[in-house]
Amino acid sequence: MRFWLLQKLVSPVAGASIIVSLLPSPWRFPMRVIKGTSNRYLDIDLTTETWSVYTVTTEDLTSYLGGKGLALKIFYDRFAKEELAGIDPFGPENIIIFSMGVMLSSGASCTGRFEVLTKSPQTGLIVGSSCGGYFGEACKTAGWDGVIISGRAEGPLCLRIAKDGVQFEPAHHLWGQGTHEVQESLELTPKEGAAVIGPAGENRVLYANICSGHRFAGRGGIGAVMGAKNLKAIVARGKEVKYEPVLQKQFSDTVRKAKKYILRNQMSHRMRLYGTNANTRPGIQHGFSPVRNFRDRFHPDTEQISGEAMAEKYTTRHSTCRHCSILCGHKGHYPDGVFRQIPEYETAGMFGSNIHNFDSDLIGRWNEVLNELGMDTISAGGTIAWAMEAGEKGLRETELQFGRTDNIEAVLRQIASGKGAEAELAKGSKILSEQYGGQEFAIHVKGIEIAAYDPRAAWGQGLSYAVHNKGGCHLGSYLIGLEQLMGYMPPHTTLGKADWVIFMEDIYSGVNSLQLCQFTIYGILTEPVIPKYLPRFLLKIATITLPKIAMSLMNWSLLSRFFWSITGIRMNKWQFLKAGERINKLERWMDVQMGLKAADDTLPARFLKEKETAYTGKNTVVPIEKMVTQYHRKRGYDSTGGPSDGDLQKIMDTSRGKSRSITVRPSGRFFKTLYCRIVLAVLGWFIPAVACRKKSVQEEVVTFPEGFSFSLGVWPCGPSVTFRRRGRGLKKSGKTERVDMRVSLKSIEAAWLLFSFQESTCQSEANGRLSVEGELPHTCTFIRFMDKVEILLLPRFIAEKAVKKWVPVK
Ligand code: SF4
Repeated sequence: MRFWLLQKLVSPVAGASIIVSLLPSPWRFPMRVIKGTSNRYLDIDLTTETWSVYTVTTEDLTSYLGGKGLALKIFYDRFAKEELAGIDPFGPENIIIFSMGVMLSSGASCTGRFEVLTKSPQTGLIVGSSCGGYFGEACKTAGWDGVIISGRAEGPLCLRIAKDGVQFEPAHHLWGQGTHEVQESLELTPKEGAAVIGPAGENRVLYANICSGHRFAGRGGIGAVMGAKNLKAIVARGKEVKYEPVLQKQFSDTVRKAKKYILRNQMSHRMRLYGTNANTRPGIQHGFSPVRNFRDRFHPDTEQISGEAMAEKYTTRHSTCRHCSILCGHKGHYPDGVFRQIPEYETAGMFGSNIHNFDSDLIGRWNEVLNELGMDTISAGGTIAWAMEAGEKGLRETELQFGRTDNIEAVLRQIASGKGAEAELAKGSKILSEQYGGQEFAIHVKGIEIAAYDPRAAWGQGLSYAVHNKGGCHLGSYLIGLEQLMGYMPPHTTLGKADWVIFMEDIYSGVNSLQLCQFTIYGILTEPVIPKYLPRFLLKIATITLPKIAMSLMNWSLLSRFFWSITGIRMNKWQFLKAGERINKLERWMDVQMGLKAADDTLPARFLKEKETAYTGKNTVVPIEKMVTQYHRKRGYDSTGGPSDGDLQKIMDTSRGKSRSITVRPSGRFFKTLYCRIVLAVLGWFIPAVACRKKSVQEEVVTFPEGFSFSLGVWPCGPSVTFRRRGRGLKKSGKTERVDMRVSLKSIEAAWLLFSFQESTCQSEANGRLSVEGELPHTCTFIRFMDKVEILLLPRFIAEKAVKKWVPVK
């Protein structure tokens, strides 16, 4: 650290920035202050190396809360219904969205997180993953609430984001480097944060992750999507903009109260002491530890990899996301002299008891290797455990064996590099079990390996895994928290479980969209007076017999108050919950279009058939079918396993309020494309004609420089028309690669709304359906110009709908 500081002080530019940052605040340059959110996303096309600004509407922010929800809505707006299935996760058409959330950089507890969302190569469905690295805050304080990335770079690329745009830099020299190595090579200044991939992402390992600092967006192979786009790193230069809540006093009160609840919650307290590994002892006690590919549920030596044992052995210290007050991340001194990250509970479980290893030194070392290679530890551990069992049963040749540890590190490197006998483990347990057999012990849901909680110990957690849109992630609704860790609900009953999973899924979706850490939820929900002081036995009865009443005893109004005070958009706790439901159902609807079936909502056969284990407590299987049927009925899903088109529109329309009723309805694509072609052809003839005849139109044209060209069309390769200024008029010109201003409608549906005059040019831009690449003054001229063209072209009763204000044009 000292060496780094010295180096930076010697470097004139970075040195200057450090000296400035050390000055007392009145001497520094004043920062631009944004109240609430900037509502601006960078929209980057890697293929053409161009970028534009995508503006988020207030309606979308209100309905989808920012972060994950907004990323989902952007994804939805980009594709027609029939296009969703055909998106190749590794193709240039797939988009990857980094979305920052309204709470990031507000300074409230546990708010240093951002979301990454894309179509997953591991499941073929939407996947969102949250990360606590500094990239999010750097990007947001550069003035961007998010980044949308499409296309594919020709060669390895690094993006550099600053307040005024993006630079595209070749990154051949970084290709092949590990996640921390590459962050060092990037020589980040204190203002910069990076999101990078390791070799696993480059080689498209289906469970490759994205790293920022020492935190990861782990699940579903989002790192492989970045790799397929040849995007090695994104660096954001922040601290240019300061965010302030719109309602400062309400915000401060909410922060104070939330912090009090979070700090006094027993789950947070244990995490602060022992990290997420605090769950290991309850796992041994309640039988949810994964042992030998989830065969046994119990092994006495698991105690050696518990949080308590590691805290003592490694004299641990906190190493967390920014602005955290739970402090679940830890580092410790290992016997080899290295001060390294203590593995999370899930990593310790999957690379510990699940492969019959109880050496915590080895788990710490492998955790480091996995992080450097950029691979999700849960999926890697689950796949290796499957391979061990498949080898034991003679289904596949391998040297991997339960209890054998000498070859694990080499196998991890083979997976990440795509070279060697075990390289095919990069495909994950689902694909491999379809290839070799052994599907009954491939422990995944929808292709994602489940985390280290055996659902036979908590049936609600089983339902949570089975119905989670993303697949076997434990954080869809994390019911094991209520069932086993806090003891608020009997774990072995189906009563009330569907209601609770729905409720918690909606809360989690909301929290993930605020980008508040999910570990705050139990403190916020259960620390208010009623749930805290109500006798536990009464709560246990109420949660399963009167779930709706028990839910209303909990209080999540702090979550809606966070949103309200930061954005100034009034929201109560029920509206917050509704937004969570909307986000969930929108994701589910897109998943169904991408190929999800109702039957995919299930658990691995092991949890449904294998009752007897080494656990001496209650041995059960999970009655998943009954709970899933209840869940689908209560969610209102039809036989497809998701909401019907009509139901989706209903929940999306409700959100939009009376002022806005236009909805993109993806249908009739052929007719809409034909119609848009005709309109653009008419405009191609009409615009040059009015430009040379009508004085007020000409006044707009002459503000463009001589030779200035602009195109209007449908992104990325739909119909378009190009014009160039010649003298005082405009001429239609042929399609060219380079134009001075590109006006792109995001889809044929967006073009349909504009050209059928249901939306004005202004509205279309405000609703994020139209993007303009070019200089701002030219954009404003273009909007005025188009309004005049529409007034001249259309009968007045239509033109009045199409433009913001109808005025006669001379
Ligand atoms: S509790 Fe853990 S995951 Fe959550 S913000 Fe803090 S360090 Fe990050």
